[in-house]
Amino acid sequence: MEGFRALPSVEQCLLTPEVRALLAEHGRTAVVAALRARLDAARAAIRGGADGVAEAARLVPALATDLAEASRSTLFPVLNLTGTVLHTNLGRAILAPEAIRAAVIAMANPLALEFDLGGGGRGQRDEHLRGLLCELTGAEDATIVNNNAAAVLIALNTFGQGREAIVSRGELIEIGGAFRMPDIMTRAGAKLVEVGTTNRTHPRDYEGALRTETGLILKVHTSNYRIKGFTAEVSGAELSQIARKAGVPLLNDLGSGSLVDMTRFGLRREPMVAEAVADGADLVTFSGDKLLGGPQAGFIVGRRELIAAINGNPLKRALRLDKIRIAAIEATLRLYRNPDRLTECLPTLRFLSRSRAEIAAQAARLAPQVDDLLRPHGFAATTCDCESQVGSGALPTDTVPSAGLRLTGPGGDAPDRLSSRLRGLPVPVIGHIRDGALILDLRCLDRDAALLEALAAP
Ligand SMILES: *Cc1c(COP(=O)(O)O)cnc(C)c1O
Repeated sequence: MEGFRALPSVEQCLLTPEVRALLAEHGRTAVVAALRARLDAARAAIRGGADGVAEAARLVPALATDLAEASRSTLFPVLNLTGTVLHTNLGRAILAPEAIRAAVIAMANPLALEFDLGGGGRGQRDEHLRGLLCELTGAEDATIVNNNAAAVLIALNTFGQGREAIVSRGELIEIGGAFRMPDIMTRAGAKLVEVGTTNRTHPRDYEGALRTETGLILKVHTSNYRIKGFTAEVSGAELSQIARKAGVPLLNDLGSGSLVDMTRFGLRREPMVAEAVADGADLVTFSGDKLLGGPQAGFIVGRRELIAAINGNPLKRALRLDKIRIAAIEATLRLYRNPDRLTECLPTLRFLSRSRAEIAAQAARLAPQVDDLLRPHGFAATTCDCESQVGSGALPTDTVPSAGLRLTGPGGDAPDRLSSRLRGLPVPVIGHIRDGALILDLRCLDRDAALLEALAAP
């Protein structure tokens, strides 16, 4: 057909100055592949009746756009204005500047990760965190793995493989994704022995299930739900007595856990690791990137000989942490030595402790400016009250009074259209839809300018 003749060949294209510039930037393999794809698309368009000359003219600009898009990372910052501070899908905690500095140093340099600078021999990578974890939790010993799911897995495997693990029916949690307690038990090789009922479990239920096959008793903090009404659970302290008498370890999985009393920051209490240890749990597991505000990690603290057994499990090697995270965790834990300064240094706690009044003042400042930016697109912004959440299964039924912007427009689909538009910005703005409007909760907005710049992008 006539139209095809207007299209250049791959070789001809590669000789043009525009494409040579693209070659220098993106490399030959990527440019040739993108060019072939564009030429195929142009031929298909011409077969469908498109004009060959017009298709040829479009070729190089389209190629440049394709290559720019393909070379853009999918990991760029977004503004989390969802009202959920620890948003798992947005990467949970953002790190303290001290932790970021420590991670950068670890990335760029060799360091004595497993090297004893005194004797020149081999050292232990967990050693960098063990002292701090023991100091902050009152435990005898500590070990660290990839995340809390891994902490529970390795603890169950170490003490429950080929044996039985007793757990209350009220605590057989699903965390989301594929973390369900019964499935983790199976993978750990432990036989699940359920006791009690969904709403009530008593000491006698545990006592009645103890056998010579019992490997451990597991207590799980019901992080992402609450059972209310006619309920009974056996406390960590009572359970530790039962476990001690039977000579089996008690593992208390706290989920988020906390190293400080959250009521300091105006939040409800979340179980503290030090209390679980003091209550007699033999092992306590908790997360690095929930309320603790650090990078993803799983901590196991507890009795020395039990931690030694976990460290001797071959799974430990498969679940260990890299130097970057160890450095960031060390710097994060160090901040907990001075709880009075935590809200200054740790973004998670700074966000969570902001008062509604402070956020409302920010909303009042921003509303007219955001309104100006959205008007040309047919949308309007006003201030509103809202409720933030902690997220990631910490304090699930609690909300924290907050404030934000309520964005509206014409038509029933306005919130969806606006939400999709803001998600498509170079710095995407993520809110949530409520009562026919898109709500931007400003709790996690550090700088007013960040929102204004994001919305002003073409
Ligand atoms: C969140 C949670 C886990 C999993 O922790 P990750 O750090 O996300 O792997 C396990 N148990 C409980 C009770 C949790 O809340």
